[in-house]
Amino acid sequence: MLNVDKLYRVRWNTFDNANAMVEPTTFCQLNCPKCYREVGKEGSRPINIDLDIVRKEIDELKKIRNIETVTLAGGDPLLYPHIIKLVKYCRKINIKVRICTNGILLDSELLIKLRNAGTNEVLIHLDKYQGRGDENEQYAIRKRFCELFREFPEVNLGFMVMIRGVEEDNLERLASFYIANSDVIRLVSFIFTKDIRSEQVQANPNTENLEKLIVFLSARYNCSPAAYFGKKINKKIPSWLIFVPVFSDGRAIGYIDSSLYAISSKLARLIKGKHWFLTNKNTINPYTLFFGIFNLNARKILKNYTKESIDNKFSNRMNYQIITVNYGPDQTSEGWDLCDPCPDAILYDGKLVPSCLLERIKEGENIQF
Ligand code: SF4
Repeated sequence: MLNVDKLYRVRWNTFDNANAMVEPTTFCQLNCPKCYREVGKEGSRPINIDLDIVRKEIDELKKIRNIETVTLAGGDPLLYPHIIKLVKYCRKINIKVRICTNGILLDSELLIKLRNAGTNEVLIHLDKYQGRGDENEQYAIRKRFCELFREFPEVNLGFMVMIRGVEEDNLERLASFYIANSDVIRLVSFIFTKDIRSEQVQANPNTENLEKLIVFLSARYNCSPAAYFGKKINKKIPSWLIFVPVFSDGRAIGYIDSSLYAISSKLARLIKGKHWFLTNKNTINPYTLFFGIFNLNARKILKNYTKESIDNKFSNRMNYQIITVNYGPDQTSEGWDLCDPCPDAILYDGKLVPSCLLERIKEGENIQF
């Protein structure tokens, strides 16, 4: 297993964290298997939360968690009737907005409205378990979004996919697509499907598929993980892994390693008083790399970028892609082994709880950070 001690551990916690999640609606057009919110469950009645209540929730999160970004999820937040007003409110109080959506409603008209309201990032959940056509049709949807977001560079594009394993989910084809479109895809999120409804206690979680994915991504992107979030109980297993490969016009030219990631995080904290999480663009200004000139990987990126620039008569652009791997909670004999920290915490009954286990909490299970 990967030795997490060699990676930068992201220094967020429950009450000082870059992100939190808000779910203004539980309406959704799809019925994804293992949806944490169980929106398609028989007998469930979807609701839209009152706009004032959602605004107050965001105020509270800002106050108690020092958030830079709020992730609007659900349900599908694009079905929320007040979505534009909500995004505008976040901008007014200086909170960045990421929208986590299936993208079904997203066209250029809506994207313009979302951009004008202040949306920073749209993360599109699209995978083979949603019943959205065959593989080729899913790629056509992905391609359409890449083309759309190239027209609106002010809004970051991300893709999220639920996975079971490298071969099972044909990640080779997926990774090739993400690399080929790395100019516009800023975030790629691989989320392992976990059966959070199971009562089964796992003495030793089977991390074989996680290990295979780490090997695959390291080889495919020619990079190593930069940072991680731990787990509450099993300190040797990462709950989130972060890779940051760097590209010049779709060609990998290096990666941000642990020490560069640590420097960027610490600088953001020092300058902005916030955690480093969401920026407006995925482009890298080559001059910023001179700050890391003592770092072997920074020098390699600069060298490769310079070579590419000469070959391309200085018309190329440098950008990064953030790849996250989420290996969520396990139920152990000592309780739920949660992500530590949990960036996707949500307010429930005035308390911060992990959004993935909210349905169990609603049924009375006592799950705390
Ligand atoms: S513990 Fe938090 S970060 Fe981890 S899977 Fe659950 S909600 Fe997401």
